[in-house]
This record gives sequence, C-alpha cells and structure tokens, in this order.
Amino acid sequence: MDVALLSVGLFRSIAYSSLVILAYSVAIRVSRSEFRCNLLVGCLFGVVSVATLTDPVHFGGGISYDGRVAVLALAYTFAGAVGSTITLLVACGCRLLSDGQSANAEIVAILATTLIGYVIAVMAERRFSWRFSRSFTLALIAPWPMMFSVWQGGSVSLTVFLEIALPFVAINAIGIMLLYDLLSNERKRWALFQALERDAAVDPLTRLANRRAFYAQASSVLEGAVGARADFAILMIDIDHFKLVNDTHGHDTGDDVLVAIAHAISTCVRKSDVVARFGGEEFAVLLPGATLESGQAIAEQIRISVERTTVLAGPKAVTITISLGIVAGNYAQLSIKSALKTADEALYEAKRNGRNRVEFAAAA
Ligand code: GH3
Ligand code: MG
Ligand code: MG
Repeated sequence: MDVALLSVGLFRSIAYSSLVILAYSVAIRVSRSEFRCNLLVGCLFGVVSVATLTDPVHFGGGISYDGRVAVLALAYTFAGAVGSTITLLVACGCRLLSDGQSANAEIVAILATTLIGYVIAVMAERRFSWRFSRSFTLALIAPWPMMFSVWQGGSVSLTVFLEIALPFVAINAIGIMLLYDLLSNERKRWALFQALERDAAVDPLTRLANRRAFYAQASSVLEGAVGARADFAILMIDIDHFKLVNDTHGHDTGDDVLVAIAHAISTCVRKSDVVARFGGEEFAVLLPGATLESGQAIAEQIRISVERTTVLAGPKAVTITISLGIVAGNYAQLSIKSALKTADEALYEAKRNGRNRVEFAAAA
C-alpha cells in the first residue's frame, strides 16, 4: 500500500473539509434568508469542487481521483436544488474554460456525479431518519469518479487498484460521512442558536416582542431616519381592572384576555409598527412616521377594538377595556426611553380620568 500517496490524499481531504466547514458556517450566519444561503453555499461548493478538480491524485493508467465527489454529493443536501445547480454550473463552467472541447468527457462525469449525488441525497432524506444511514448512503457515491475514469478508457493494474485506488475510495467515503456529519452539526447548532435568540426576544404567551426586543427593534427602525421620516408616536397600554378579571374568572382566563388583546392591537397596526408586551398586563406600540393626530386615531381604533373583544370563561363572555397614553415627537429631539416615560404618564392620566380612554402628553 502506498502510504505516502494515501497520506497526501487524506491530508488534502482534511484541509478541504476544514475549509468547507468554516466557509459553510460563515455562509449560514451571514445569509438573511434560506434562499440566499443556498445560493451562497452553492457557489462555495462550486469553488471547492473547482479547487479539488485542479488537484487530482493520479494512479497511473489514466485513472485519477479528486475530492470533488464529496462536494457534489453533499451539494443538494446543504444547498438545495438551486444551490446544487449553481455548484454544478460553476464546476462545469470552470472545466469548460480551462479545457475547452476536451472537457466534454469531464463534464459528462461531473453531470453524472451530481445526478447520482442528487438521487442518493433525495433517497437518503426520504428513506432514512437516522443520520448514520443518511451519511452512509451519501458515501456510496465515492467509487463513481473511478468508474467514470475506467469508462473513459483508463485502466489500472489489479495491484494498484487493490493497494491504492480502493483504500483511497474508502478514505473518501469516510470523508463524505464525516463531512456530512460536521456540516449537519453546524446547521443544527445555528438553527438552535436562532431559535434561542428568537425565543429570547418573544413573549411566550402572546408571541409579541418583549421589552428588550422592543427597544432593539424601535432603535433599528428609527436609527438613521431624518426629517419627517424620524417622526414617531408611542402608545403605552394597560388593561383596566385586570386583577379583577383574574380574581373573578381565574388566571387562565386572564391569560386568554392577554392573548386576545395582543391580537386586537396587532390587527389595528401596520407590519412596520412595533408591538410589544412590555410587562405583565402592559403593552407598548411604536408607530414610526406617525404624528400625534394619526397616532391618536390608531390608539382610538385599538381602544374600540379591545372594547368589542369578548373572551369566553366557560359559558360566560368576558369583556375588557384598556387605557392608553400617547406621545409623539421626532427622533432627533425625543429618545425612545423618554417617549415611553411620557406616554406612561399620559396612561396614568387616562386611568385617573376614568379608564377606557386615550390621553396624550406633550413630549418632554
Ligand atoms: P388598573 O386598572 O389600575 O390597571 O388595575 P389592574 O387590576 O389592571 O392593575 P393591577 O396592577 O392591580 O393588577 C395587574 C394584574 O395583572 C395583577 C397580575 O396578577 C396580573 N397579571 C400580570 N401578568 C399576568 C399574566 O401573565 N397572566 C395573568 N393572567 N395575569 C397577569
Ligand atoms: Mg399595570
Ligand atoms: Mg391594569
């Protein structure tokens, strides 16, 4: 067995795999959508397949082997249909540019490898839920490049085949399994991180943004806005006599009321507005671009919508009202923090003035 040749192949595979994992982990983190991520990963796999394509190991007799098979095999799983098509186009395009007409046979081999990789990936995904069975199935693609070499007229002595080519294919098969495993782990870790980050920003009961997320979203919406685009209004909302609802109908009904109010508020505002559950029974709404007049109109709409909402507590229909405080200003003069404070003062004015009403306060 040619240990030196095998070691070169092994270290080369490890180097390429490390680069692929590193680049993949960056790609999934910087992409803002799954589609863009697939495009980026598709390009990345394309570049790696070109790099490995130009760096084959020759066994003599016209038989050579390169690591492209690994990325072509994994492209569909990690870059989807569109991304793997890009990988294919990049690999074929570079081959055509570098070899012109003589690249035809190579291109057929790349197409065939990708197609087999695609069929195997779809089969592995549909048939197997166990990760090992999936990666093992994907690794079945490893011998194909050698078969294409033989098909294209190459020949290799039985000794070379058994002592070098076969161990080489086995190493690549294990490499594909490991790479699949590591990339899957990376994908899972990132999905978990995103889920945790989402959960940390969302109130679990109403699914609205929480206080922390409100500040972050409000700042990002208003940051950089100038002139009238920096106008905004903030509403502070508090449920009237909510303690009584809990005491009379129970905490679960209280929770249902919170969900119903969150829904009523959300249906009265635009997608670009920021709605948050600010505390126990308090909500805050940022209306970017709103003036005091337009903000008051929306506040009144929310108040009426909640007043008309009923929540069932067994056979009984529970109705509820809210009080609202509003402040409006321009981000150049009024910070979110002081707007919230002033809106809160207006809210307590609404409470003092009898509840179920909107009061405004002049920006401090
Ligand atoms: P006011 O009109 O003056 O606002 O009276 P209130 O009863 O609404 O105000 P108070 O501050 O006395 O009571 C707020 C209640 O909100 C007490 C608390 O149990 C309830 N609450 C806070 N968070 C939750 C929650 O997540 N679920 C339920 N069911 N109740 C909650
Ligand atoms: Mg309160
Ligand atoms: Mg209250």
